Amino acid sequence: MSELSIGVIADDFTGATDIAGLLKRVGYRVIQIIGVPEDDGDYPSADAVVVALKSRTAPVGDAVSESLAALDWFERRGVRQVIFKYCSTFDSTADGNIGPVADALLEKTGEEIAIICPAFPENGRTIYNGHLFVGDVLLENSSMRDHPLTPMRRSDLAGLMQAQSRHSTGLVPFRVVERGAEAVRQALSDLQRSGHRYAVVDAIRDADLLTIGSPLRDARLMTGGSGIALGLGRGDVAAADPARSAEGSSISGRDLVLSGSCSERTREQVAHFRKSYPALQLDPLALASEPGGAQRALEWIADQPSDGPVLVYSTEDPAGVRAAQDALGVAAAGKIVEDALAAIAVGATGAGVGRLIAAGGETSGAIVKALGVTWLEIGTEIAPGVPWTRPGGETPIHLALKSGNFGGPRFFEDAFATPF
Ligand code: ADP
Repeated sequence: MSELSIGVIADDFTGATDIAGLLKRVGYRVIQIIGVPEDDGDYPSADAVVVALKSRTAPVGDAVSESLAALDWFERRGVRQVIFKYCSTFDSTADGNIGPVADALLEKTGEEIAIICPAFPENGRTIYNGHLFVGDVLLENSSMRDHPLTPMRRSDLAGLMQAQSRHSTGLVPFRVVERGAEAVRQALSDLQRSGHRYAVVDAIRDADLLTIGSPLRDARLMTGGSGIALGLGRGDVAAADPARSAEGSSISGRDLVLSGSCSERTREQVAHFRKSYPALQLDPLALASEPGGAQRALEWIADQPSDGPVLVYSTEDPAGVRAAQDALGVAAAGKIVEDALAAIAVGATGAGVGRLIAAGGETSGAIVKALGVTWLEIGTEIAPGVPWTRPGGETPIHLALKSGNFGGPRFFEDAFATPF
């Protein structure tokens, strides 16, 4: 692999493809590697490599050790900058993995101060006076309050970070960011001198991300959402080769959506898609009590007309999710659904599915793991933060990994209308 400009450690799979798509948009040749890369892995060359972990809700020790192993791999390849990528809604459990992972990466890279910037204005994630907004409401008042695994009940990023990290977190407020790159650089160095190791940086417009990118040119470590990639575009990096991307871009076979996301946006997308296309709902209680649920879903898929897309989903509203969790336990309900959707993905690709959309971060992680995919080439963005991807190796499919709250209400239809 040639010289590596950017190495990204992403804490879930859809988050990884999200930032991979944006790095591609700003001119990098990008691949995404699933899990900690192998030393003898046969990866194509790239200027930016995104390592997709499934560490968001993992035990904290595992999250830290996998992140450090990824950093190690990057450092052995002379990486210039490392980004720790988490969700633009700062998804973390009550114990929280973002703080401990960031602390470990700070220590290992020797970086003095790292930004905390999950802003992605294009997708409605903005930070003002250190508070994270989703659309026009605070994170704690958004649908993230009711997330099955990572309910977010506060919005002040420094407070969230303080609860998880050993170090102190300061703020570069919007009134500084709007004064430009030099003001941000100065504020970061002032915070560093006063003993802070993290700085939440406000951003309410895409232009703010460009401002923030400039003083970060030489940063060894940054943390944030995918939006920070927008400020890191480099004129000296060869743009992705369109000829190479076009190669093998056509694919035959059935179009399938597998949705385990219960996020508000996915619920809208499922409701919209169901009006026009065949859809099968999986019930976690039925999956738990009667074996063979995945097999029955595969038989159902095979019975549908093969010239149109189909949907299999466990997507539910918060009351439905709570009912399943009360009956089965939070982790068990999630696992039963993830296992079923992963088994369906494996069966369906074996039975000729050509394009597969996985909706949900954890869901996508389970599906990609089950398919045995080790790396992905990044293709066209379908919606901000969701590119089509093509798995390396022998799996002849195109995959879109959609984070719960991403995409417009017609995302599934839009995706199947977008070429690789
Ligand atoms: P998102 O990206 O929207 O957060 P995820 O896939 O990351 O979606 O998380 C959704 C979680 O909810 C998964 O662990 C999934 O297995 C679980 N889940 C899906 N459907 C149900 C359901 N009907 N009841 C309970 N849990 C569910």
